[in-house]
Amino acid sequence: MAKILIVLYPDPVTGYPPVYARETIPEITEYPGGVTVPSPKAIDFVPGQLLGSVSGGLGLKNWLESEGHTVVITSDKEGADSVFEKELPDADIVISQPFWPAYLTAERIEKAKNLQLVVTAGIGSDHTDLNAANERGITVAEVTYSNSISVAEHTVMQVLVLVRDFVKQHQIAAEGGWNIADAVERSYDLEGMRVGVFAAGRIGRAVIERLAPFGVRLSYTDRFRLPQEYEEKYNLTFHESIEDLVKEIDVLTVHAPLTEETRGLLNDELLATMPRGAYIVNPARGAIADRDAIVRALESGQLAGYAGDVWDPQPAPADHPWRTMPHNAMTTHTSGTSLSGQARYAAGTREVLEDWFAGSPLRPEYLIVEGGSYRGTGAHSYAQQPTHSDEQQNNQ
Ligand code: NDP
Repeated sequence: MAKILIVLYPDPVTGYPPVYARETIPEITEYPGGVTVPSPKAIDFVPGQLLGSVSGGLGLKNWLESEGHTVVITSDKEGADSVFEKELPDADIVISQPFWPAYLTAERIEKAKNLQLVVTAGIGSDHTDLNAANERGITVAEVTYSNSISVAEHTVMQVLVLVRDFVKQHQIAAEGGWNIADAVERSYDLEGMRVGVFAAGRIGRAVIERLAPFGVRLSYTDRFRLPQEYEEKYNLTFHESIEDLVKEIDVLTVHAPLTEETRGLLNDELLATMPRGAYIVNPARGAIADRDAIVRALESGQLAGYAGDVWDPQPAPADHPWRTMPHNAMTTHTSGTSLSGQARYAAGTREVLEDWFAGSPLRPEYLIVEGGSYRGTGAHSYAQQPTHSDEQQNNQ
């Protein structure tokens, strides 16, 4: 029997919700490209309810305990006295979400002598030191595609929020004002703007497909070029590098994983080459942007706005400058954890565990590392894995 340590974000401050805004969520039967949605043998939760917080427990607790496993669920994850740190040494399986990541540094992996499986309930396993996991032969899996569309929708929303200058307009309405000129002095139409997509993977392509009907001019860069028919369908211009891409756009959206290549990429030098008044939406990883360079570019007017939902570290400290910098429309890391997305990644996590306990192979699209090397999705996305010294220092 296994000990499963699950790290989830805290319940709402008002308590676990007794009722929800809607009765149900739409049933999604497949992802783009014919990829199937998670298919566990059973689920133990009501889709549409809050699963990503401690009381929701990803809908796993009753099932796992009925199978004889020991389950510890906590949100207390930082520092030597945290529940996570204390429970880790004899845990067989660790599960956490990128929104509230259990940072599995090399040091923590060293202490976790029994650890065999790490599951990201969601997408993005850069909070686990994958090189250390490989050295120990630990399997790391994530629920690929489970919340890609959730993130793409959030991206489109934040592009519109920035370009239309929604935040200020809403504030004026909520505060009882009717100051039209104040409300529109920074408000533009998205129509006709040049939108550049950095990394056209699952999320990047979903953003392209959702933005195309707005009548924007789309361009992108990626390590590999998309098929010609796809480029033609969306009238996409390809650029060899992000340096080329950003010179000719009004809006940049960022969808690359955090690797040594992408860490700190959005820095003073790169931002200075963008047209004045460009917008950036980054729902990929906070550390892809140089924190202070973004603040400087907003203060100088080089950037007209910055939004996203990813920070470095997470949770961000209360005095993180991105909370208060001008013309930001930041959210906390919520794009991939809508109630709809939670139902899918909770089901996918259960599917991974069912396969694991049955001794069956995990779906290749869920695999990041296995048996000492990058496998499945991991072989494609994480072959150049960052070291995590920054996060480690920030989160010890
Ligand atoms: P994919 O793996 O489908 O796409 C990533 C793309 O990035 C691939 O096309 C890859 O290229 C490309 N890429 C990688 N490195 C570079 C580089 N140096 N330069 C240019 N392109 C590069 O991932 P997803 O679209 O599913 O997710 C993207 C990222 O979004 C995740 O890594 C994660 O960090 C983040 N994410 C955030 C969420 C949130 O809640 N905010 C939720 C889910 C994900 P190629 O494949 O051609 O090699």
